[in-house]
Amino acid sequence: MAKTSSRTGLRASRLKYDDPSLDRAAPQREDPQWLERALEHADARSLPVWRNQNLVGGLETSAPTAILHGVEMHRHASEVVFLGLAGDAPVFAADYSELEETKAVELLGEGFTDLRRVGPLLSEPEAALLAYARGILFWHRNHRYCGRCAAATRSRKGGHLRVCTNPECRRPSFPRTDPAVIVLVEHPGGDGGPPRCLLGRSPHFPPGMYSTLAGFVEPGESMEQTVRREVFEESGVEVGEVRYLASQPWPFPSSLMIGFHATAASTGIRLDDDEIEDARWFTADDLLALKARGEDETLCLPRTDSIARYLIEVWLEAVAG
Ligand SMILES: [Zn+2]
Repeated sequence: MAKTSSRTGLRASRLKYDDPSLDRAAPQREDPQWLERALEHADARSLPVWRNQNLVGGLETSAPTAILHGVEMHRHASEVVFLGLAGDAPVFAADYSELEETKAVELLGEGFTDLRRVGPLLSEPEAALLAYARGILFWHRNHRYCGRCAAATRSRKGGHLRVCTNPECRRPSFPRTDPAVIVLVEHPGGDGGPPRCLLGRSPHFPPGMYSTLAGFVEPGESMEQTVRREVFEESGVEVGEVRYLASQPWPFPSSLMIGFHATAASTGIRLDDDEIEDARWFTADDLLALKARGEDETLCLPRTDSIARYLIEVWLEAVAG
């Protein structure tokens, strides 16, 4: 069961965009005849994606919902992927990116939008489905040609594999997710100061936003090594113990965010990395005061649907809860 914190309202076990209620039916999707029958199922539904945007109804309301179409619209799609079974109903995602915008809207309706605009307001199953659709169709659009011989590739296994069409090559490629670590660095106090956490801001962030540090895992690196390297590169702070906390699919465009808590072994901040324009230590009182006065463009925390926010809230709960 998900445990909900009384102070933060956070669910301890699961994050937005991660909802396991969809059965991915991985063994069945290997079977082309089973997939044909799934397409003919009376309850089969399809999520449209157009150039990384999902189709959402009620955009101007506080309760937007995903719009699904019947699979007959697939004849206009450039790519179709089987996502899984919602109960008995097969769910597909279809890419209409090759259509001009007016044509896509004429066929499918208005409401194509960036999932990040509406994610916090969507139900968890819908947010997870839209994220899955967007992420896997992004992969297809960017893997139309073989990375080894440059021939065209073709989708297989319901869209969970692409195979090179060059008979000399036949290289398979599977949908990829880029692992990135994201870390709340804590100085536990006891040095004359209170416990505090390290937050930084990138020049690309919205105005006033400070967030946990993050970076991509490089080849030959463990996630714990990435945490230590990124924190030191971005802030000059050395990290001791590193502990895994949670992960979140983040298909913007293709990441898996792997969340850690790390204990600082030094406190001095040194900024000589272009990725970060400022980094500061925040105490629990600083963050509680910010929340009490209201976040705005002078100072704010990351979006409520992000693991960055989750890591901050979990820390705040532990220190001030
Ligand atoms: Zn090839």
